[in-house]
Amino acid sequence: MPFESVLGQPFATGILQSALSIGRTASAYLFYGPPGCGKKTAARALAQALLCSASPKQGCGACSACQRVMRDSHPDCRILGPAGNTFKVDQARELVRESHLRPFEGSERIYIIDRAETFNMESANTLLKTLEEPPQGTTFVLVTTQPARLLPTIHSRCQSVRFQPLPDEALTQLLCAAHACEAPAAREAGRLAGGDLKLAGRLLSPEGKDLMALAESFLQAAVSDSRVQRMAWAHAASQDKEDLKLVLDLCGVLLRELWVDHRKLDKGLRWLPKLPEHGKALHPDKARALLAGLAEARECLRANVNPALALEVLFIEEGVPASKA
Ligand SMILES: [Zn+2]
Repeated sequence: MPFESVLGQPFATGILQSALSIGRTASAYLFYGPPGCGKKTAARALAQALLCSASPKQGCGACSACQRVMRDSHPDCRILGPAGNTFKVDQARELVRESHLRPFEGSERIYIIDRAETFNMESANTLLKTLEEPPQGTTFVLVTTQPARLLPTIHSRCQSVRFQPLPDEALTQLLCAAHACEAPAAREAGRLAGGDLKLAGRLLSPEGKDLMALAESFLQAAVSDSRVQRMAWAHAASQDKEDLKLVLDLCGVLLRELWVDHRKLDKGLRWLPKLPEHGKALHPDKARALLAGLAEARECLRANVNPALALEVLFIEEGVPASKA
């Protein structure tokens, strides 16, 4: 059954399944929670329950409709996202127009809108009336990791469904199944990815080693007094913008492991055996400044600032000793 594939979210799936069982699903939902915790999997499960003819209100996971939802090829289950950094007004207009046409196959249609926090005032206003009074049989699911950035007018028109961070065991189980790896490797990837399923999956993929090496060299550069080493790191890290976002997330997790949660320090990691060493060398004030710098660099990337410039904010703080020595 589709909802069974949504692991570790009994609260969210409970809300959806009870609404389905009494035929009272909302016409607009807002699924919010941390990255990689199963929001889109749950949205697809909802789509299957709405579009499946073999097992209506539940979804069978096996019929043609359910399979096509999983492959993102069902014409009545559309997954949309922003064009670049913004969900543009033209996209919103097209969505409104399309949603007023009849569904292609049955009587139901579902739109899953990813990164809903990227609506600007204009595109949000275009969609408001349709969200409030959607065409018969149309369900909108807005998905976001940052509900606070969503415009209140959009927020208030949706039923909010909160998703929790994935429990460690659920994360390990999903990673082992998807990447055919052993539980200890999956557990370590999950820990390094801060519970983000997507990032953990990247770490287990062949390119994961490169991302990890880049994050580790960040720590080396951070404890070093060498400006050249820091600039070399920034140059290497800014080559791929999408990877850079992941590397910044990874660096944030490593810093928190080192600085905030000292208990973890002694255990070390198989992939990063030198982690405790870096941790012992890193001055707490420096760690604090770097965490703030990472958050700022991520904001810059979100605002489409050139990656090399975004990284400049990381190492510019003056007067903070890099190491304890
Ligand atoms: Zn089905």
